[in-house]
Amino acid sequence: MRLEGKNALITGAAQGIGKAVALGMAKEGANVAIADVNIESARTASQEVNALGVKSIALKLDVSNQENVIDAFKTVTSEFSSLDILINNAGITRDGILLRMKEEDWDAVLNINLKGSFLCSKEAIKVMSKQRFGKIISISSVVAFMGNPGQANYSSSKAGLIGLTKTIAKEYASRGIRANAVAPGFIQTAMTDALSDEVKNEMKKAIPLSQFGTPEDVTNAVIFLASKEADYITGQVIHVNGGMYM
Ligand code: NAP
Repeated sequence: MRLEGKNALITGAAQGIGKAVALGMAKEGANVAIADVNIESARTASQEVNALGVKSIALKLDVSNQENVIDAFKTVTSEFSSLDILINNAGITRDGILLRMKEEDWDAVLNINLKGSFLCSKEAIKVMSKQRFGKIISISSVVAFMGNPGQANYSSSKAGLIGLTKTIAKEYASRGIRANAVAPGFIQTAMTDALSDEVKNEMKKAIPLSQFGTPEDVTNAVIFLASKEADYITGQVIHVNGGMYM
């Protein structure tokens, strides 16, 4: 059990990658707070985590709302004795080529994907600084490094997460806080199910391993970074993309 007794909060964990990470971390012994805008699905995910024999709570959280974030962290720190791990996973897409992209689509994506991670990291760092220990892991994307037509907002938000991660790593290393990112390629979830078969086939051609990743592939990298085995790693990005970007 690599995360025995650790307490984690995962944003956007009601489904997809976040839920897989929650289940994976619970199997390694961590207590997990499932925070998501969708409270019904968050409760269901939390029950599944509970069934693995660890403590789990479900929280209604919009990561882009500061008051909401502050309240959620208060609840987590009162329910759990500490907060050791934050996974900034909540993310959305609002695709469109730049000239047609509406300002509201830019703002929505940047507010949830990047500002949300800033707000959650800020609250986590307050707790982790006092403990002199913490791990912050943000889910970026391969498009942060490659760009992607139709995703000016999304790729900018995910590139911003890398800057945020490296800055947290430098600012809070002296407090025992490690900040790293995982950059998935094409992972099979509701987010990518929305793409047409034509787009999916084109994407597969660009992947040397010729297959899409699973939420569990991302989970394995996240658990490694959260574990003691990665205590000397900070400010780094682990790419989980089947060779799509090297
Ligand atoms: P997903 O299936 O859409 O799950 C995202 C979860 O976040 C959903 O439960 C969603 O709730 C929730 N959420 C949305 N807005 C939120 C907010 N403001 N506050 C809190 N929670 C919110 O997506 P996924 O594919 O698992 O992706 C998870 C993360 O991995 C995202 O950051 C994504 O950008 C990143 N990623 C995914 C891929 C991929 O190929 N799937 C690749 C690279 C990176 P609702 O469904 O109710 O909106």
